[in-house]
Amino acid sequence: MRYFYYHPTSKKRFTVFLLGLICLFLDVATGVATELKEDTIYTQRRNAMVKQTIEDRGVRDPNVLRAMLTVLRHEFVPEDLKEYAYEDRPLPIGLGQTISQPYIVAYMTELLEAGSEAKVLEIGTGSGYQAAILAEIVKEVYTIEIFEELGKQAQNCFERLGYNTIKSKIGDGYYGWEEFAPFDGIIVTCAADHIPPPLIQQLKPGGRIVIPVGGVYQVQMLMLVMKDAQGNVTVKNMLPVRFVPLLGDHQQ
Ligand code: SAH
Repeated sequence: MRYFYYHPTSKKRFTVFLLGLICLFLDVATGVATELKEDTIYTQRRNAMVKQTIEDRGVRDPNVLRAMLTVLRHEFVPEDLKEYAYEDRPLPIGLGQTISQPYIVAYMTELLEAGSEAKVLEIGTGSGYQAAILAEIVKEVYTIEIFEELGKQAQNCFERLGYNTIKSKIGDGYYGWEEFAPFDGIIVTCAADHIPPPLIQQLKPGGRIVIPVGGVYQVQMLMLVMKDAQGNVTVKNMLPVRFVPLLGDHQQ
């Protein structure tokens, strides 16, 4: 015959275990709820940003608007600045560099007029945000960053968010990326004091370059460079802007 008897210690242990389990469940549930709430807030802010600071200011290309609505800008800014991710301003990303203002990103992307089959080169990966916007629109994106730390950080971000059509490297973008040239479009997100000739060479006939030109303490001009089917190049001034400088040896 077996005897069952009440053992106070094992019952206490079981109660503690049960309470622990409940706490763990509540913790996970609260975490998930907070994340969902955060996602909803970010989505609302992103929608408002696109409507008020991009669409209402004249950007019309539906592909650009869709990309701006899709890419999670808060994933590309430093943790402590996430709450400002959907304000229409540049934000510091380290090493004295910035992620560009959303309106300017949208405006420059629209100027490129790159279609779904296009191959685009970006100079100045920075946070990787502009490259992600391009990746939502075109087939292949190539992006170059001069600072290893920023380039690696952006690469991690692309992997984490599944942007596998972006190819990035560390280097001086002044010289373009000969190996994958020619490009349908080239976008430069730092200001040069002249349009780098290698970039013009690596542009396909019919292609476009969007580039800010001017010194750090001067008014810079966002320029649109167009190469026609015969290879003739024309340049148009579009908008006064302010960008961090294009760095590298060629400046010396
Ligand atoms: N497109 C970026 C904006 C970054 S700011 C974004 O969406 O976040 C400009 C970037 O250009 C900086 O990260 C800077 O380090 C980089 N840069 C400056 N000179 C460069 C050069 N010669 N080649 C490549 N990147 C350069």
